[in-house]
Amino acid sequence: MTVLVIAEHDNVSLHVATRHAVGAARLCGGDVHLLVAGHDCATAARTAGRIAGVAKVWLASAPQLAHGLAENVAAQALELLAQEAYTHVLAAASTFGKSVMPRIAAGLDAGQISDVTRVVAPDIFERPIHAGNAIATVQALDAIKVLTVRPTSFNAAPLDDTEAIVQDMTPVDDAGTARVVAVERTVSARAELTSARVVVAGGRGLGSGAGFTVLEPLADALGAAIGASRAAVDAGFASNTLQIGQTGKVVAPALYVAVGISGAIQHLAGIGDAKVIVAINKDAEAPIFGVADYGIVADLFDVVPALVTALQEDEQKQLAA
Ligand SMILES: Cc1cc2nc3c(=O)[nH]c(=O)nc-3n(C[C@H](O)[C@H](O)[C@H](O)COP(=O)(O)OP(=O)(O)OC[C@H]3O[C@@H](n4cnc5c(N)ncnc54)[C@H](O)[C@@H]3O)c2cc1C
Repeated sequence: MTVLVIAEHDNVSLHVATRHAVGAARLCGGDVHLLVAGHDCATAARTAGRIAGVAKVWLASAPQLAHGLAENVAAQALELLAQEAYTHVLAAASTFGKSVMPRIAAGLDAGQISDVTRVVAPDIFERPIHAGNAIATVQALDAIKVLTVRPTSFNAAPLDDTEAIVQDMTPVDDAGTARVVAVERTVSARAELTSARVVVAGGRGLGSGAGFTVLEPLADALGAAIGASRAAVDAGFASNTLQIGQTGKVVAPALYVAVGISGAIQHLAGIGDAKVIVAINKDAEAPIFGVADYGIVADLFDVVPALVTALQEDEQKQLAA
């Protein structure tokens, strides 16, 4: 048995989701190989080789692979899958993985199993259905199992000092069906949402984009990433990269603070692995209180500044002690 993991990277550094995907791959059994398809991406490939449990890294480097275009990365993976005997191919269920893996499944004429949260056996997997309200146990009958795995459900394989062999492979031709016109990078000092230990998320209750900024001092005081409900994103209060839930990101922080969020099932689908949930909502009947460990029934515009002041005073006291 050999498992191929499709690496997510920016040509220099690997996205941490790749290490979570390797964590899942190791549970499938057998060797784990990684495909790093990019351009001038030898640094990312070397880091990939340091992930514990990775036996080999395939490196395909060409300009048409520079931006992780799904059409070209999938073609590269299919080329490798045609040459080598793999039993599984998987990637993290990130935006990248969700775009690349269905193309690989279609190319293999295989059924993809998406959003795997547990590897029960090499061919049996658990995945949430109905917005996380039920868990399906699914058996894959295809010769090559095609999976996306939920990063928050698997421990990240650590980096170690031994480097796996990195083997060059011939890059595929440009599919020519899509091209990258521009790349806009969001630079933020905040923790990345999907791996943050603390997340402060805002909903429609914030009322406006200006209202949404009330979360920033709270996030600063808690060292938190900021997230949003879909209603807040659709209303333009927050960027869609911040959306948490069924059609957004899945988070697994130690502390999740939901501010002005009602707790629709599609939102809860993204926070099921949060350890402690705190809800601030002026409606005592809001469904978020059904899942919250601590709830404050009050106007958020009173509570959030008061919390910030209390946290800052607490920090001052600790510094003075
Ligand atoms: C197919 C599908 C996929 C979806 N995917 C997602 C998803 O990924 N993520 C997601 O979040 N949603 C998703 N949704 C939308 C979801 O159903 C809800 O509409 C959405 O989550 C509601 O967002 P909200 O809680 O911010 O808004 P609302 O439901 O409008 O809740 C706002 C809350 O703010 C409270 N509030 C208002 N003012 C204040 C105040 N001053 N102080 C304190 N509290 C206040 C209100 O009491 C209310 O509970 C999806 C829906 C569908 C159909």
